[in-house]
Amino acid sequence: MSRFWSATVRALQPYVPGEQPKLPNLVKLNTNENPYGPSPRALAALRGELGEASGENLRLYPDPESSRLREAIAAFFGKLAPKQIFIGNGSDEVLAHAFLALLKHDLPILFPDITYSFYPVYCRLYDIDFQTVPLDDNFALRVADYSRPNGGIIFPNPNAPTGRALQLKDVEALLKANPDSVVIVDEAYIDFGGESAVTLVNHYPNLLVVHTFSKSRSLAGLRVGFAVGHADLIDALQRVKNSFNSYPLDRLASVGATAAIEDREWFEQTRQAVIRTRTAMTRDLEALGFEVLPSAANFVFARHPIHDAEKSALALRQRGIIVRHFKLPRIEQFLRITVGTDEQCAALVAALREILRA
Ligand SMILES: *Cc1c(COP(=O)(O)O)cnc(C)c1O
Repeated sequence: MSRFWSATVRALQPYVPGEQPKLPNLVKLNTNENPYGPSPRALAALRGELGEASGENLRLYPDPESSRLREAIAAFFGKLAPKQIFIGNGSDEVLAHAFLALLKHDLPILFPDITYSFYPVYCRLYDIDFQTVPLDDNFALRVADYSRPNGGIIFPNPNAPTGRALQLKDVEALLKANPDSVVIVDEAYIDFGGESAVTLVNHYPNLLVVHTFSKSRSLAGLRVGFAVGHADLIDALQRVKNSFNSYPLDRLASVGATAAIEDREWFEQTRQAVIRTRTAMTRDLEALGFEVLPSAANFVFARHPIHDAEKSALALRQRGIIVRHFKLPRIEQFLRITVGTDEQCAALVAALREILRA
C-alpha cells in the first residue's frame, strides 16, 4: 500500500494463480496444464516464424485483427464467419473484455457460488454488481435458479473447479429463459468431454462462448484465447480491445495457434489420451475411498470421507506432487487434481495410498 495508489487499486482483490514452482522432477497436477505438449506442427510453425530472415518479422507489428487465426478457427468449427470470432491474449483477457463490454449493466450479473475465481475479481475491477447462485448439493448447476432479473450470466462449462458439465439442452434452456441478457459460457475444458455451445451461436444473439488454447491445445505459455458469438457481440469486444491494446496477439502466438488449430489429429489423439487417463485415475481414487465428482474436464475434484484435504495436499507436496486445494466454503475438503500422463497419475495414486495408510 502506498499513498500513490489510486482508490481503485486499493480496493482490488487480485486473482491468485496456481503456483509455478521451479523444482526438478515435480509432478505438477495443480494448474490443469496439458501433459502432452503442443502440436508438433505448431512447434514447427513457431520455429519457422523465428527463422524467417532471422526474426525480421518481429520488427513489424502483427496483424491487429489476427485475420488468419480467425479464419482458421472459423474453418475448424464450420458454419462460422471470421467476424463472429474475437481473439485475445489468453481467454482471461477475452473474459476481462467481455465483462466490461457485455456484462456491465444496472442489474447484478449471476454466476455459480463455486466457480472460476477470476469472475468476482473482474467484477470488482470494473465495478460490476454480482450475485452468486448456489450449486445444488451434488455441485450441479440448476438452470431454473437463473430465471430472475439479471444483467448477464457467466459460468464455465464444464464448471471449474468441480469438473461437472451442463448438457447442451440445459444451456439452451438458460438462453431461452434469458433472451435479454448476455450468457457467457466459458468452455476452457469443453474438449475433454462436454457438448460445446458453439453450435448454438447462430441461433442465439445473446450467446458468447469463450475458448482457450491453454488446456486442450497445450499452449498455456503462448497465451491465446478466443470468443465466438454474434457479430454484434464480437464488435463490442473489438471496441474494448482497441481502447486497451490493439495488438493482443504477437506474431509468434498467431502463427503457433493457427498451426495448432489446423492440426486436428494431434488434438484428437491428446484429448482422447487425457480422457482415458481420467477414467483410470477416477477408478483408482475411488478404490482409495475418495468420492470423485463426475468430470468432463482435464482434472478431477475429489474428497475423502476421513482424510483432511489440506493435510493430504501438504503430504503430497512433500513427495514432490502438487495438486490444488481451495480453502473455501463447501469445497475445503476437496482436492483438484489435473489429469497428467499415466505415469504421473500412477505416482499420485501411489503417494495417496501411502498417505492414507499413515
Ligand atoms: C484456465 C481457465 C481459463 C483461462 O485460460 P487462459 O486462456 O490461459 O487465460 C479461463 N476459464 C477457466 C474456467 C479456466 O479454467
